[in-house]
Amino acid sequence: MIYLDNNSTTRVDDSVLLSMMPFFTESYGNPASIKNQYGRDAEKAINDALRNMKYCFNSASINDFIITSGATEANNLAISGILNSVNGRKHVITTCIEHPSILNVCKWWEFKGVKCTYLPVNEHGIISVDDVINSITDDTCLISVMAANNEIGTIQPIADVAEVARHHNIFFHTDATQYISYRIIDLNKIPIDMMSVSSHKIHGPKGVGFLYASEHVRNKLTPMIMGGGQQDNLRSGTLNVPGIIGMAKAIEILSHDQDRINENLLRLRSIFLRELSKNVCVYINGSLTERIPNNVNLRFPGVPANALIGSIPELALSTGSACSANRPNETDYVLESIGLATSEIRSSLRIGLSKYTTESEIRLAAKLLSTRVEEMKDIYE
Ligand code: PMP
Repeated sequence: MIYLDNNSTTRVDDSVLLSMMPFFTESYGNPASIKNQYGRDAEKAINDALRNMKYCFNSASINDFIITSGATEANNLAISGILNSVNGRKHVITTCIEHPSILNVCKWWEFKGVKCTYLPVNEHGIISVDDVINSITDDTCLISVMAANNEIGTIQPIADVAEVARHHNIFFHTDATQYISYRIIDLNKIPIDMMSVSSHKIHGPKGVGFLYASEHVRNKLTPMIMGGGQQDNLRSGTLNVPGIIGMAKAIEILSHDQDRINENLLRLRSIFLRELSKNVCVYINGSLTERIPNNVNLRFPGVPANALIGSIPELALSTGSACSANRPNETDYVLESIGLATSEIRSSLRIGLSKYTTESEIRLAAKLLSTRVEEMKDIYE
């Protein structure tokens, strides 16, 4: 089976797994219980891992990383953590193509009287910085714009939006979950106040991620999970030691290999698209240039994607976000927002590549898809 669902999750890198192993069976102490050596060893390992992350992201302190169970929790903490702290009238600016862990939190806050602006995207899947500027009011306390989209992979101009937010003294958050596999953001260069990251999208383990929060934000943030006061009271609970070690290792590997991996992904993606378009009619959803290299979202006119995916068991594909798969009756809001008609949405599927994807897999996938599309278009026409 050829795995092409890497925007949903990725295989754990062997060296990541190896780095985690001792923390299950040998150094299994609780890093908050430092009266014994086991606890002190775990605490040291966590601090080393955080130092590594600080170095890779060029952040100011190891305390900038609030470890969470993943990006869903990090996004919840970013939005609710700020809104719970701000008094008076509140306004949030975000985009209409954010992950549900942003959109559903914003909707919940709207019920509580917070005003939310959901910026549109153009047909390429990209917001306009002017729209951000024009949406700012005296009440705007937070701008949250994802760095790259999980369905169509389009990259947003977050550096420009971050500058606008800083200029207006508004907190800026970015969901960088999909973007990080493409570029590790230099936090010293872009004025980002908060950033969500998930380990399982970058060949790290599932169930761990972080919210980067700079010091001035941490002083403002209301915690969502309260308890024993770990992580400066910002997120209580015993730390997931093996998870954090694995995540830090995955980030370290990325920081060394990113350019080489990106080059290869771009090469594989263009072979795939070339091979497909030789034989069948295919359209790409969203910008191909302003897109993370491991993603392509495309449609074969007249061929329903669910039937297509089901008919090729050799390929592990998806039609969109795994997080929305349990709401099959809802139409795909990301594809809708770039102007696709219902029939076009139904014929769209997502291909996610990774550093483990090979050229022969890509060629075979293109062949299997074109053959099936040729057969199916006669049935459905
Ligand atoms: N944001 C984006 C852009 C994502 O792609 C995902 C995962 N699909 C999440 C947030 C949620 O991440 P996690 O699975 O770590 O909760």
